[in-house]
Amino acid sequence: MNKKLAVVALGGNALLRGDQIGTIEEQEQNTTETLENLIFLLNEGYDLVITHGNGPQVGNILMRNDAGEQVYNIAQMPLDICVADSQGGIGYMIERMLRNVLIRHGIKKNVVCLVTQVLVDINDPAFNDPQKRVGKIYTKDQADDLSSRKGWIFREEVKTQGGYRRVVPSPVPVGVMNDSIISCLAREGNIVIAAGGGGVPVYIDSENNVRPAEAVIDKDLASSLLASHIGADEFYILTDVPYIYINYKKPGEEIREFLDYADTLKFLNEGHFAKGSMAPKIQACLNFINSGGKMSVITEAFKLADKRYGSKITMNYEDDRR
Ligand code: ADP
Ligand code: MG
Repeated sequence: MNKKLAVVALGGNALLRGDQIGTIEEQEQNTTETLENLIFLLNEGYDLVITHGNGPQVGNILMRNDAGEQVYNIAQMPLDICVADSQGGIGYMIERMLRNVLIRHGIKKNVVCLVTQVLVDINDPAFNDPQKRVGKIYTKDQADDLSSRKGWIFREEVKTQGGYRRVVPSPVPVGVMNDSIISCLAREGNIVIAAGGGGVPVYIDSENNVRPAEAVIDKDLASSLLASHIGADEFYILTDVPYIYINYKKPGEEIREFLDYADTLKFLNEGHFAKGSMAPKIQACLNFINSGGKMSVITEAFKLADKRYGSKITMNYEDDRR
């Protein structure tokens, strides 16, 4: 049997559901349910790399940072440290939950979590156009004060309850540190948790130093890049919808279960996938297929094991239908 390598990206919902407040018990329960859905891949002989989001968790870390400064005068940590903190905390939790799931299924495997740096290009145009909202909502006065003290950039929250939120750049990932180690570990049968929250963004400066970038990286784009670089066969994005749809939430809404590269790109360009949510996932899936990956799948975290669910994107689905 030819061994296959899968990269599975766990979305926010796989760890923390929208209707929950986010206690550790809730996160552990969701994570366990999600991981139970990955067991079939192991039973089919796949090697496995798991990546994950960190949106709500890093948001909480940023707010604790802020409260710590105000109440106890604790120095605020920059974004790269906060992302690394979130990788450590979430990665540890996934690792421990996975150990218990593996024991219940009688599967003997090592699980290892790597705090991962992801390379970006400091000349990426995103650095001049920060778009990604992070941290808490401030009043106008607080936002003005923070931007004069720290140089932070703020945008008004128009869709929600108002106020101002910090925006940071979201540059395109161009490399994953230690990808060869991730590949070796995974191909030896160890389950690797890596590139959490899209990775800690770093860049190489003109003197060849590794520097932190005050930015965040889209976790699906980083996961897809990692999947390509380690030559994974399949790339799974687990989120909170069982399929992708065209005309989503509009008249003429349709499930798309089998998609080829060209149709998916056409739907993306026609605007069927929302910018802040599904579009980057689709782009990540297309990037993976375009660089030689066999199949990208988008489905609901709790439904992966049931192959009736999930949208499967391949270069040429007529040939690849399974
Ligand atoms: P996660 O937090 O799991 O990474 P997001 O919330 O960013 O995921 O993206 C998933 C969301 O994308 C779904 O909940 C859905 O509302 C939205 N979405 C936008 N366009 C589409 C589409 N065409 N098909 C399916 N879902 C879509
Ligand atoms: Mg979400």
